[in-house]
Amino acid sequence: MRFEKQLFILVVFAFISCTNAQDKEIQIKTHQLTEQIYMLTGQGGNIGLFIGEDGVFMIDDQFAPLTPKILATIKTITNKPVSYLINTHWHGDHTGGNENMKKNGATIIAHENVRKRMNTDNTVLGKKKPASPKKALPDITFTNDMMFHINNDDVLISHVHNAHTDGDSFVYFSKNNIIHMGDLYFQGKFPFIDLDSGGSINGYIDAVNKVLMIANDTTKIIPGHRNISNKAELTIFRNMLVSIRAKVQAEIDNKKSLDEVTKNRELTKKFNNKYGGWFITDDVFRATVYKSLNVK
Ligand SMILES: [Zn+2]
Repeated sequence: MRFEKQLFILVVFAFISCTNAQDKEIQIKTHQLTEQIYMLTGQGGNIGLFIGEDGVFMIDDQFAPLTPKILATIKTITNKPVSYLINTHWHGDHTGGNENMKKNGATIIAHENVRKRMNTDNTVLGKKKPASPKKALPDITFTNDMMFHINNDDVLISHVHNAHTDGDSFVYFSKNNIIHMGDLYFQGKFPFIDLDSGGSINGYIDAVNKVLMIANDTTKIIPGHRNISNKAELTIFRNMLVSIRAKVQAEIDNKKSLDEVTKNRELTKKFNNKYGGWFITDDVFRATVYKSLNVK
């Protein structure tokens, strides 16, 4: 079996075992970031909650079986219903609760490509992802940016092109000074760039740079996965991506093959220990960057 294929199967296995874990063991944890904004963690993408007199504004909703636990957790903070739910992108660990949340009265908003992808069959890391039911699709879509004026804040939802997928947005709470990046940021780890869904290394770096232009030294940054972060840490993450892109591009310029780059741990050696060993290993990341740059 080819090396790349073995790696691929390993990653797919990790992904499947992650998404099929028993939800009975999953606890929803609450992290308060400001008086009005919380991050909830459970299984899947980090959830953002913005609570105020106008209602609850939520970002991403993890997997369907977790909805009752998520709603119960929100109830411990406020009695107001979830009015608006933003999907940062289409992946199931960020949109799995959509149908339940709509039944519960939420209006779902996302970039138009989120709705398009959810409305059709997709393949992620070699695994078929069938289209979502109509009842799970976003109600309102947009093409570039959108502003919400809610709960005494001005909230920007900004689309970035071909980054983690082709439908990503980040959400910036300007007065609270919080940014939820969805999967435009895997805190402290190599990011998953979903090339089959229109993602690209160049778009990913551009997206991170856009957030770095908005953030200041006191901005709290919610990543799609893992821990709360900040501008300094995101800058180091961006520099890692830029460095690896340059190394892989040089290999491509030297006519190196995908297999050679995938196996060459030297290319990313400064980063393998810190950023590897999680969902996306250093081998998979080098292969992804190579494929993304080597478009003829
Ligand atoms: Zn994702």
